[in-house]
Amino acid sequence: MKDTPTATSGDGHEGHTSQPLGSAGQAARLQPVPAAPSDSEPAVGGSPVQRTFTFTSTVTGEKVTVTCMPGCMVDHKADSDTPTHPHDIYCDIPGTADELPLYGPLCTTRGPEDFRFLSWQIQSHPFSGRPAERLPFVAIEVFDDHYIEYLKPDTLQVIIGCLQKRVDSLREAHAQLVNLRTEYVNLPGVAA
Ligand SMILES: [Zn+2]
Repeated sequence: MKDTPTATSGDGHEGHTSQPLGSAGQAARLQPVPAAPSDSEPAVGGSPVQRTFTFTSTVTGEKVTVTCMPGCMVDHKADSDTPTHPHDIYCDIPGTADELPLYGPLCTTRGPEDFRFLSWQIQSHPFSGRPAERLPFVAIEVFDDHYIEYLKPDTLQVIIGCLQKRVDSLREAHAQLVNLRTEYVNLPGVAA
């Protein structure tokens, strides 16, 4: 969390395990971590060099060695520099994000506003109290600050299938719209 510029500090370990999903803290934690080029270059060619770091546990007071998730973009320096609760240790690979112009109650202006839509990232929380968080998982930001988290490969596959169905359905809507417009403008009395 200390690595994440957008996160508020001082929310401590208890925040992580007891926070309801989608709370402000959770959202801040899930902000993509900006790339830190000096610390994040994946090994090129040959066998990848596994990055490890150590931190002092605030629970036991002992130094713990962590094996970083391959491809992790988190600069773990802050984890190493100050005693940290194991639950606050996490690795993150930012994915891509897109925005869509939406109109609704969240808009502060009269027109549509851009909201993040279906962005994703891969995370792992190796010392989490929740088993689902310990292995790498995908978190999808379905819509601005609204997440589907802890997706394993099979559950991610279910989500992809669901989205694919919606896309297929939108293609049907597109075809129907094209035909309907053609039919509509040819009706007597319709000025197009
Ligand atoms: Zn890491």
